[in-house]
Amino acid sequence: MRDVAVIGAGPVGATLAALAAASGLDIALFEARARPSNEERILALSEASRRILEEARAWPVPAAAITSIHISQKGGPGRTLLEASEQSLPALGYTVSYASLENALAARLGEASVPIVYGASCREISLASEAATVRFESGGEVRARLLVLADGGANASKIPGIAFSEKDYEQRAVTGIVAVDRLHGGRAYERFTPQGPVALLPVGERFAFVWTVSPAEAERLLALDDAEFLRGLQAHFGDRAGRFVSVAKRAAFPLKLRTVNVPVAMRTAIVGNAAQALHPIAGQGLNLGLRDAASLAAVIEATPRERLGDAAMLDAYRESRRRDAARGVAFTDFLVSAFADARRLPTWGRGLALAALDLFPPARRALATRMIHGAAR
Ligand SMILES: Cc1cc2nc3c(=O)[nH]c(=O)nc-3n(C[C@H](O)[C@H](O)[C@H](O)COP(=O)(O)OP(=O)(O)OC[C@H]3O[C@@H](n4cnc5c(N)ncnc54)[C@H](O)[C@@H]3O)c2cc1C
Repeated sequence: MRDVAVIGAGPVGATLAALAAASGLDIALFEARARPSNEERILALSEASRRILEEARAWPVPAAAITSIHISQKGGPGRTLLEASEQSLPALGYTVSYASLENALAARLGEASVPIVYGASCREISLASEAATVRFESGGEVRARLLVLADGGANASKIPGIAFSEKDYEQRAVTGIVAVDRLHGGRAYERFTPQGPVALLPVGERFAFVWTVSPAEAERLLALDDAEFLRGLQAHFGDRAGRFVSVAKRAAFPLKLRTVNVPVAMRTAIVGNAAQALHPIAGQGLNLGLRDAASLAAVIEATPRERLGDAAMLDAYRESRRRDAARGVAFTDFLVSAFADARRLPTWGRGLALAALDLFPPARRALATRMIHGAAR
């Protein structure tokens, strides 16, 4: 019987295990993939997430600092600039690749002697008052006082009492890396357009981009040759970041909002994308997931071993996440709807909101605080 079994060694499950390792518990991670993913997706991490990773001893990771964020809308007035210096911070956030984060966490788990069992795909979960049991496709099984589901959402529906609510935005995120003809100076861009938002994140001397479009348009964009694609992106985004000169690593992801009704079940805590998968518009998904991991690790640390996974412990975790998770979901969903749907917020309303942000430092500070810390403060 293990103290904690974590299903899924993505960044949230691995961070939880790295944080909880300090409590000296018997923890193991079980990962469906045969080996680390090597995924090149670029993620924007907030300053608060950097601190969580530092606490987990998985920082530094090769990263680029985001020192300002330029926010604007296409076809309307208003823009604003969030700056790290105004928040008295060295950076508003950092960009890292999924793979480098995964590697840093795996190295830390190795040092802490927390095993990651690869090729362990969860098939079945049974929950009883004294332990949770997971059976794997390979035939093996594990029992634990506390089961942590960090599998991105693959298995929660197998648990009695857990239901998902889902909203399909019927959009795709087209992602990749573009080079520009000038230095970015650490500036990220978020531009709202009637077709959906476009974000540029500084990575090395280039930008990672997330371009939200309809599924048909995503297919078309992926099929274009590089020169046609760059012309399309330039026409859509404008020239505020410079002239796009090359593009690499184009890919597309479907965009949905999916949340569980409650992030706990008997002997089970649900974290990260398994609890809430968000639209990447505001770069909040992993940041929210890392705050799930930090909260759960704090509750684990405060709980005696023999009470791990009991109802009081799980209630404490649920309560610690209630406000932040609900607000993170609502904030992201509001941005997606209000900035893409003229019926919810007309162009002049969006212009007014951006102008107000630009004029009032306290409003800018409130937005920056929300993006960095969520509703955890
Ligand atoms: C295009 C795009 C851009 C994004 N940009 C940002 C951003 O800038 N900032 C940000 O904060 N977030 C961003 N996100 C969201 C971010 O990627 C996720 O929030 C994050 O990956 C969630 O981490 P996780 O560990 O919860 O889940 P995952 O990363 O999904 O990891 C889950 C793990 O569980 C494993 N698993 C699955 N099924 C099983 C099983 N049956 N048994 C065992 N293991 C299993 C998987 O193999 C995987 O390793 C973006 C997402 C997308 C799609």
